[in-house]
Amino acid sequence: MHPNSVLGGPIFITRYLNTDQAVARNVPRCHAALLTANFATTDRFANLVTVIREGCERLLVDPVTHSFTYPGFLDKSTYTALPYAPDNVISASTLLGNAAELRSVVQETLSFQQELNADILIAPYFYARDLDDPRLRANIRLISESRGHLGAGDNVPPLFAMICIGGVVLDSPPQVDDLARQYLELDVQGYLITVENLDDRSASAERLMGLAQLVSRLQVDRDIVIASIASYGQVLTALGANGFSAGVGWLETFREASLQPGRIPFAADRTPRAQYYYIPEILSYVHPDELQTLFDSDTGSETMRERWCQCDVCQGNTLPTEVGDKKRHFLLRRHQEMHELGSAAPKYRPQHMRQRLEEALELANIIEEEALIRIPTEHFVRWIAIIDTLMSTSRSAPTDVDPAELDRTIQEARRRPDDTDRP
Ligand SMILES: [Zn+2]
Repeated sequence: MHPNSVLGGPIFITRYLNTDQAVARNVPRCHAALLTANFATTDRFANLVTVIREGCERLLVDPVTHSFTYPGFLDKSTYTALPYAPDNVISASTLLGNAAELRSVVQETLSFQQELNADILIAPYFYARDLDDPRLRANIRLISESRGHLGAGDNVPPLFAMICIGGVVLDSPPQVDDLARQYLELDVQGYLITVENLDDRSASAERLMGLAQLVSRLQVDRDIVIASIASYGQVLTALGANGFSAGVGWLETFREASLQPGRIPFAADRTPRAQYYYIPEILSYVHPDELQTLFDSDTGSETMRERWCQCDVCQGNTLPTEVGDKKRHFLLRRHQEMHELGSAAPKYRPQHMRQRLEEALELANIIEEEALIRIPTEHFVRWIAIIDTLMSTSRSAPTDVDPAELDRTIQEARRRPDDTDRP
């Protein structure tokens, strides 16, 4: 993290959903929150918007302009009510050819965020599937235009760029380099990075490494937030990002398919998953049935019972059953995780995170032995390998990582937990 950082960190930026009003009201004031702009277009969510605004030190408003190149937004009244929503689907190429229209999109998008008292402005953006996608060029123009519109100086709010990109770009180190180069030329104070359909548990080591390298390239004198990511967001924060953002209790992975018409609304799609319980010691969410088994006094894990969560919700002896309590527990523990990461000096943070991953691997093995519950951990092996590879190459250019070396490191990391002989 650089000395002039806007956001500081390490931070977790909460992205609240329309169902989260009670949760947002009942947690301590947070460092930063991300509000989805369309929530502010209807009176139904007016109280939610107020609670979010008052509950955070810094507000960011995602302008959700990426939805406008897909017909799905036309079915959603909160999207079409955005003052900068087009009458119909727009194409990036058409927008690039119409300077007046492009300027108007920029002005209205930024004004809307300023009316909501956003502390950091996000330039309008589109999803770019790959580097040849004309929407990438449009994004660069929209950001330059945003800077031109805002001007520069001490009274101008910080401007961030959203890099909303297809995962395929991350699979290629030269493309990561090219993408970073294009965005580093822009006059912005920070970046939000969203990778389409990225699941940090199933993503390949190459793709996760590509994301780490993008963070590494961009962090020189800019802020970086990874948007909508689970625990790998903590690894990236340890590697130099300011922090990451996700929903309460579950992430809000961006999927291109969700922008198409006729998609199930978020809340209906998510409700069952909000029942999961987050256990930071294993960096994992546990299904409600398994949770009962895990903490059962006869058949459960003695080790987990000894590590019962001490947060205000669980208090060392209960497990939340209501969704709202599970979410509060999640937020309290997530902020604690970020605080602990921040307690380590920046150069020791990768080691701190690596140690947590090693401990999670070990604890998952113990849980399987004691309670016969299998916690998936293969992704931790990949994450450890990425930390090790980046630490061993940190003196050379970060994009010089040899894929064969990453493979070797994964093999080594995979062997390690099996080699530890526990009594
Ligand atoms: Zn708790």
